[in-house]
Amino acid sequence: MELKRKNLINQLVDFIAEDFMDGNQMSLTRIARYEDVNYYFDNYEDAFDGMLLYDNKDFHIHINLDSGNTETSKRGRFTLAHELGHYFLDEHRLGLKYGLLEPHASFHNLNQKSLIEIEADYFAGCLLMPQHKFRKHSGGKKFSLDTIINLSKSFQASVPSTIIRFAEIGTHEICAVVSKDGIVQWYAKSNDFPNWTHRFKKGERLPANTVVGEYFTMPNRKFTEIEKVDADSWFLPPKDDNRAYRQMYEQCYYSDSYGYVVSLLWFD
Ligand SMILES: [Zn+2]
Repeated sequence: MELKRKNLINQLVDFIAEDFMDGNQMSLTRIARYEDVNYYFDNYEDAFDGMLLYDNKDFHIHINLDSGNTETSKRGRFTLAHELGHYFLDEHRLGLKYGLLEPHASFHNLNQKSLIEIEADYFAGCLLMPQHKFRKHSGGKKFSLDTIINLSKSFQASVPSTIIRFAEIGTHEICAVVSKDGIVQWYAKSNDFPNWTHRFKKGERLPANTVVGEYFTMPNRKFTEIEKVDADSWFLPPKDDNRAYRQMYEQCYYSDSYGYVVSLLWFD
């Protein structure tokens, strides 16, 4: 996604955000009501997480309770924000309205491939965590998993979406690697995180000598505290890069309900 497009979405969200926030929490249903978009939390088995439809008169958002999308769950909030993205972004809404875009089932999957899904996810992250408020609450110099957990609670946004937002506009250099069954699903890095060659790749096994690598390969290795690791175990830093000699930390977040693990990596 281009920077220009991202900036536009952030501006659009800033404009919406002012009127619909209760503290740090965006009131998504109030936005939908204000826009006369109907929404339904209902049971749709495994058909989708969310879906936006146009019936020649009105827009309707369907949200699937069967995949854990309640009005107050972080997943449900992300799904509703994603569908609102399809509504607020002109190209998406007009595409649906004039039949240039097929209505589509959206699935909660932060490893999206199609541009309209990437854009709707980006919009959702911005809407749930508007930039100014998010930065203000990103904490001081000290970083740890708690920083992310606190933001996730405060903004009622899922942990993965909070990590993505933090990597983009947060106040500390981080890299986050999300894995399932020992396989890397996706990762996010802040711009200021060193651009070293990785020892990991999307779709491949995690490096073994890491906290999360050991969790998947050895018994009784579920560490939740901050652990010291060598940058070398995750990356191949050039010998002359002094940044590699700083202490690197790894802390893992385990999602029991969805089975993924996030490794947060950062330096002092
Ligand atoms: Zn979608």
